[in-house]
Amino acid sequence: LEEINGLHFGNFYLTHSQPTDTALLYHDVTITYGELDKTIRQYATYLQQNGIKAGDVVALSCYNTPEFIYVYFAVARLGAIIVPLNLTLTMEEITYIIRNADTKAMFVHENILAKLHVSPEQLQATLGLQSVFVINPDTAAAIAELEIGEMIEVNPRTISTLLYTSGTTGKPKGAMLSHENLMANAASCNRLLKLNADDVFMCVLPMFHTFGFTTSVLLPLYAGAAIDIHEAFQPKEIMHSLVQNRVTVFCGVPAMYVVLAQALRSGKAEFPDLRLAVCGGSPMPVEVLNLFNQQYNIPLVEGYGLTEASPVVSLNPLDGEKKPGSIGKPLPDVEVRIIDEKGNELPAGEDGEIIVKGPNVMQGYYGMPEATKETIVDGWLHTGDIAHMDNEGYIFIVDRKKDIIITRGLNVYPREIEEALYRHPSVLEAAVIGVPDPVKGEVVKAFVVPKEGQTLDRRSVLDFLKPNLANYKMPRFVEIMESLPKNAAGKILKKELRNLSH
Ligand code: ATP
Repeated sequence: LEEINGLHFGNFYLTHSQPTDTALLYHDVTITYGELDKTIRQYATYLQQNGIKAGDVVALSCYNTPEFIYVYFAVARLGAIIVPLNLTLTMEEITYIIRNADTKAMFVHENILAKLHVSPEQLQATLGLQSVFVINPDTAAAIAELEIGEMIEVNPRTISTLLYTSGTTGKPKGAMLSHENLMANAASCNRLLKLNADDVFMCVLPMFHTFGFTTSVLLPLYAGAAIDIHEAFQPKEIMHSLVQNRVTVFCGVPAMYVVLAQALRSGKAEFPDLRLAVCGGSPMPVEVLNLFNQQYNIPLVEGYGLTEASPVVSLNPLDGEKKPGSIGKPLPDVEVRIIDEKGNELPAGEDGEIIVKGPNVMQGYYGMPEATKETIVDGWLHTGDIAHMDNEGYIFIVDRKKDIIITRGLNVYPREIEEALYRHPSVLEAAVIGVPDPVKGEVVKAFVVPKEGQTLDRRSVLDFLKPNLANYKMPRFVEIMESLPKNAAGKILKKELRNLSH
């Protein structure tokens, strides 16, 4: 292995790139595949010299930067295990994850240390780590001087990543993803999306999140494409870069497309090189989807996945019919079934839980055999998402099991009401939850954000919904908001909306 130069993820050799091809664009810096490979091997050498070996756990707390990729790939190259940390975590939450994962060392960006008000020594002592490596220009300069050491064989079946679910529900659990899990998913998505070395991806989703890392880092590097790295979704900067860097592929969550759609509608932006947009992570309003696909001719492909499935489970086909409101069909090597409460498979058209089997399904939750047993049954990953399949195998997500509202014994799917709200011409964003009610069990509450320069009130929202919704689905409460709380990946946090309602 050590004789083959070129980008590797663990033992997997990513063959699509030439050393002179552009790999990363970051501010004014361009990094080629040759440089990326060399730097990763230098980072791996640095880790080796600091006593990190196969099986050791290394946490990473870093913004979207080239360093994030160097560290992740270097750890993979050594057969060690990476724990990417969500940047919005508090010190208490970080401590929980670091200890839960039996972490040995940590890479941390200097600005994050400053934000947490701790020195590397304090961090090391508080978290009980063997080493803390600070990501800063001094460390980078020292690593750039290193003579590359010998790289080892990595067993593709071993764990590469412990990815803690972001905890929009419950306590974080570390999904164990093997090298093979991640690469199988990248290979399938690459095939379906027909990516190539001429593509330029925009990476704006956080790299620490499953969706960001796999679709906007691993996938483009697998395809030999270039990655235009951004730390956050700053609309002006993003729209400028989409044009300037001739971005061809954009992966984002619905909230980002809502903003881009508004810019397209108002004529403030156009994206001439964009040939593919991928969305997932939460339900995509059909209104916005249609705008991209029909009005602007930019194929916007909705997919579905979860951390535990490395993450992609299904995608709408690039060619062939894309069904609005559907998360497409399972990836070629992934099996999906819809089951009832008792575990029986349901026929087309009936709502039940999605279960998933395939090479992308995680190995379990680290150190949590009970939670693993509940989630993976006979090799089938239980997703907690409710959906139905049509006769052609397209899947339609109805909602998350835990978000379903039960009012007077009737199930109400928030998603249906949200879709109706998005059709209101003045609604920019909407979210619906259930709030406790002494008589009905729960009642429906809607949160809506008006579009810029427009106003909304409870009455007009209800009048708009009335012809489209059965009475029991009608919101009892409507709250007009300036914005909705979102997690770092841009998903609307219903947990916080529930807290607001107590
Ligand atoms: P938790 O930590 O509670 O598991 P999370 O949102 O942090 O939640 P992720 O693995 O990031 O966990 O997200 C996976 C979930 O996102 C899926 O189980 C599903 O509910 C939702 N999701 C992903 N894609 C879509 C989509 N296209 N449409 C609807 N929901 C989606």
